[in-house]
Order: sequence, then C-alpha cells, then structure tokens
Amino acid sequence: MTAAETFTFETEARQILELMTHSVYSNREVFLRELISNSSDALDKLRFESVKDQELASGDAELHIRLEADSEARTLTISDNGIGMSREEVISNIGTIARSGTRQFLEALSDAKDSTLASPDLIGQFGVGFYSSFMVADRVVLLTRRAGSESTIRWESTGDGSYTLEELSEGGLEASGTSVCLFMKEVGADDTLPDFTTEWVLRQTIKKYSDFVAYPIRMDVERTESERDDEGKPIEGTEKTTVETETLNSMKAIWARDKSEVSDDEYNEFYRHICHDWTDPLSTIALKAEGTFEYKSVLFVPSKAPMDLFNPEFKSGLKLYVRRVFIMDDCKELLPEYLRFVRGVVDAEDLNLNISREILQQDRQVQAIRKHLVKKIIDTLKSMKLKEDDKYQTFWKEFGPVIKEGIYRDNDNKDKLLSLVMCHSTKGEERISLADYVDGMKSGQDAIYYMTGPSLEAVQNSPHLEAFKAKGYDVLFLVDPVDEIWVQYGTEFEGKKLQSVGKGNVELGTDEEKEQEKASLEEKSKTFEDLLKVLQTSLDEDLKEVRLSSRLTDSAACLVGDQGDLTPQMEQLMRAMGQEVPKVKRILEVNPGHPVLAKLKEKFDGNSDDPAIPRYAQLLHGQALLAEGTHLSDPGAFSKLVADLMVDALA
Ligand code: ADP
Repeated sequence: MTAAETFTFETEARQILELMTHSVYSNREVFLRELISNSSDALDKLRFESVKDQELASGDAELHIRLEADSEARTLTISDNGIGMSREEVISNIGTIARSGTRQFLEALSDAKDSTLASPDLIGQFGVGFYSSFMVADRVVLLTRRAGSESTIRWESTGDGSYTLEELSEGGLEASGTSVCLFMKEVGADDTLPDFTTEWVLRQTIKKYSDFVAYPIRMDVERTESERDDEGKPIEGTEKTTVETETLNSMKAIWARDKSEVSDDEYNEFYRHICHDWTDPLSTIALKAEGTFEYKSVLFVPSKAPMDLFNPEFKSGLKLYVRRVFIMDDCKELLPEYLRFVRGVVDAEDLNLNISREILQQDRQVQAIRKHLVKKIIDTLKSMKLKEDDKYQTFWKEFGPVIKEGIYRDNDNKDKLLSLVMCHSTKGEERISLADYVDGMKSGQDAIYYMTGPSLEAVQNSPHLEAFKAKGYDVLFLVDPVDEIWVQYGTEFEGKKLQSVGKGNVELGTDEEKEQEKASLEEKSKTFEDLLKVLQTSLDEDLKEVRLSSRLTDSAACLVGDQGDLTPQMEQLMRAMGQEVPKVKRILEVNPGHPVLAKLKEKFDGNSDDPAIPRYAQLLHGQALLAEGTHLSDPGAFSKLVADLMVDALA
C-alpha cells in the first residue's frame, strides 16, 4: 500500500462543500439520486466501451448498483460495477469542478441562503452531484477501480477542504467499479434528516427518484418469519431470519412504454433524473415513429433556462440509445442549435451500436430523425401558444431568444419560427405575436414596424416612434441582441415587410397622404437648405447627412440609418465578436416644426456665420444620441457645451 497523500480541494469545490455541509437543510434525500445517477452513468460508460473493447466487459457479473446499509455503524454504501476511475480521474473528477456554471451556482446559492426551498432547486439545476453526499454524511470514503486496471484507489474526505488519496495493494475491489461509503450524520442532529440506513427510507427514496434507472438497484433485505399455528398466528420462539436480495427499482425504459400508460408524475420524475433538475418540465413530448426510420423518444421543454444557455460550452443534445443500449449523452446531431434547451432521449431501432459522432453527422437516418423531432417540437410549441397562453409566455420569456436564432439558421422552418415570435410593442404591456400585429394594422399600413435597441426602457420613449404613435401605428420593440440579426433575414411575415422605424424615410398613411407629406417636406427643405448645409458641415465627422424629418412630432432631432446600414447595436455586437467594422456614419433628422429649429433658422438668417450655430449643431447631435440610449463619445465636452450655452442664455 502506498502512503496516503493529502490534497486540498480547488477553491470552488471547497466553497460548494462548505455550502453543502452548512447551508442546505431541505430535500437532502437528493444525494441518493445523484450518487445513483453517477453509478448509472458509469455502467452506461462501461457497457459502451466494452462494445469496442471486449477486454473491459465485466465478465459474467450483470451490471448493477448495490446498496448496503448498516444502521449500527451508521453507514450507507452505494456501489456499482461500472467503469470506475483511475487515480488521475479521481483527482480531476472529484477534486475539482470543471463546470462553467459553477461560479454562477455559488453566487446564486449564497443569494438564496435564507430560503431553504431555493437551495435544492439550485442543486438540481447545476447538478453538483457527488458533493451532495456531504449534506447527509460527515465523512465519505470512495473506492474505485478503473476497468482494465488492477489497482484500487481509495479517496476519503470529511468535506472540510482536503481529501486523502491512496492506492490500495490489499483489500482492493475485486472488479472494476466504484463504491461510495457514507458515514452518516447523527439523526436527530436536526429534525429534517431521515435515517438513510433504514430499509424503508431507502426503498421510498429509490422509488421516488430512481425507479426507471436502467440497471437493477439491489439491496439485501432481512426478513424475519415465524412458523404459524392452525389459526395462522405466528408461534413465539420460531422466528427465523433470512436474507434476500431485492431489486428496488422497476427499470422500465419510460420511452418504450405506451404514453397512455405513463403518468405525468412518472414523466416528470424521469425528466428530473436525466436533467438533474428539480422543477417539473414545462412540456413533455412522447414520440413513437414507425415506418422507414423507427425510433422512440421522450423530449422535455424545461420550465427554466439554465444559466449557461448562451455559453459556447453549454452541453446540449439528447441521450441516444440504440435498441435500449445507451450510446451517448449530449448527442448534438439530433437537434439544431436553436433547440439546444430541449432535453430527452431518443432510442433508434436501426442504427449501428458502434456509430461514432463523425458518422452521425452524415447518417441519413439521423438526419431524418432530426427533421422529425424539429417538426414535432415546433408543432408542440405552436399548439402551446394557441391553447396555453400562460405556459407559452413562460416559455417565450425563458427561451425566446434562442428560438429566434432559428429564424436565420433554419431556412426551412423560418416562417413557422416567425409565427412563434412574441414581443412587446407600443400598444401595451403584453407581448404580442407578429400575427396579432398584422391583425391590428391600420388601413393603409403596409409594413410591420419595429424598433431595435439595447433595452425596453431605451426604446419605449424613443423620438423615432413619434410619427407612428401620432398615426396610431403599433411598433414592435425588439430588444434582445439576437433581434438585430434575425430582422435582417426574416424580412417578411404573411406578405408584410418588416421595416425598422430607425431606417430610411418614413412615409405613412394612404398614397394621397404620403404624396402630401412628401410635397410639404420638399417645400420646407428648400427653406431650410442653407441651414442644413451648415449643420452638416459642423457634424461631418459623424454624420453623412442632416435632413428634415417626417418621423418627429415632439422632439427636435433623432438619428437614423439608411436601409442597409448597420445599427449602433449591430456595430457593437460585431465588434464584441472580434470583427472589424468601419465606423458607420448616420443621418441626423431634425424636426422643422420644433421651436428650436425655428429659432435656429432665425439666428442663421440674421447672420449665417454666427459661431453659435455649429455649437447648436453639436448639441442637437448629442441630444439625439442620448434620446436613443447611445453613449456620447465625449460626455465631458458635451456637458461643457451645455453649460456654456446656458451661460449665454442667462446672460
Ligand atoms: P456529474 O455526475 O454531474 O458529472 P459529479 O460531481 O456527481 O458530477 O461527478 C463528477 C464526475 O466524477 C462524474 O462526471 C464522473 O466522471 C465521476 N464519477 C462520479 N461517480 C462515479 C462513479 N460511481 N463511477 C465512475 N465515475 C464517477
């Protein structure tokens, strides 16, 4: 035996452990679900690897999980004959936390510290797995032997910041696998901790969380029987105790059962098992496809978006089985990226067990299954939108921004996805769909108007909306970063063009009204022509044009772009993605009906070289930037300008 070495947990792991031991007091039974699901994953891995490498197969022993409880010693051992871990794997899997979401988890957990209900919710969402042992145990000893290796590694910790590791030369495991022995906390130390060394507590907990685990979870159960007299009563002194091995779970693959025979609770429990989530899914889709490509599937739309949904390392994809044999987790090829929040299982009849990730991408069957799954998911969302408004609103709030990626990535389904879009608008508090918008269009209105921007607050009072509000036209607010992108692709809905209120010229109303407006603007432009030129010269560096506006009624000025120009948000987005973007010059529109313009014109007519005019030009530009929520490039200079002009005015 080599001497035990002591290691310290990496900082984040230590923080998690600290929280597990001291902060989580409710639903601590989930530790068992977490450990069993680790064992089940380890068995899946062994089964999968031994398809390729016969040497690794577990001999005659059937793959299983075993529970051993000793109520006197107060220990519970959970063991499996799965893949096991090497010394390095123990260090990297158990001693550190490689997950991207862990930091957010820690923050979220400490925020929720006072609410005992929120904590398990978070454990579920982040799946801190193995560490949850320390919610119920003072000390944990893990023995593990990697398949294909002779040596057993012993890991031990009290969860207080360090762990020991040694390689056993004696007393090691007889076969590959892992055994986790928990030295339980005192029952009664607090009232909420059930005794996990008793048979019925274990039985109930397994039934509740792990019933459909595909491997038998076994336990030796003691039965005391007595001989019975003629009346069937036990005869004292004849008690005999026998030990029987029982399987505690039913192991039924839920996706293989007829959906009419599966209750909502069972589906929900299955979801929690595969997703390590605590909440119920928003929607469950059970599918059975027959015909050319046969497969069965259960899919779930979660009720909450995970924190790392937009992280490039987000683990998406479904579990893939072939004829009930587990093939892989996170099979990305089965769903497009914009449906990456969907969880579940696909069990295909006719794929090869040895199918690799590379082949998956080209496989015709996989592509056909994917197409079918996408259709079913979109149909489910459509019907949710029609029939279950509350649910759909929740769905859209959580996953809307991801769905919108599909509008420009999945041309085949673009129209269907557009019909799922919901957004706020000038008309009220509630989100509306594009179809709702089209239904409410005014006569003479021929486009769907929208405004993009960094947030709802920033766009709601934007000067760009004035003419639209005056005419009674609704304008959609598109304020997710992804909106800037899809509007460039999703340019039509039900034959109506999508048109930004911040781009091009605004012509509203009937043809006659448009003509009148145009003629009146041309007329005014002649009067203002020279002033506009001077304004333009003073702002030449930032602007490509200064012109009169037909979109303003109350404000003095606003900034717009030409039809094909990048918006400031898009410019920013592209820079953030590391792309080189040339500075986009914009157009300043001024309102000829505003008193500022009238006064400015008066000043200009008095003395066209008046030095105040270029300063007012800067002021109008700065105001327009502030009104749309864009940062001023030199706030100090702007502020000084305002002060100077105030002094002049007060003089
Ligand atoms: P998760 O299971 O969610 O990845 P855990 O903290 O529970 O997170 O486990 C971390 C890792 O430790 C697992 O991903 C797995 O690689 C390894 N592990 C845990 N339990 C076992 C086991 N019984 N057999 C083999 N490996 C295991």
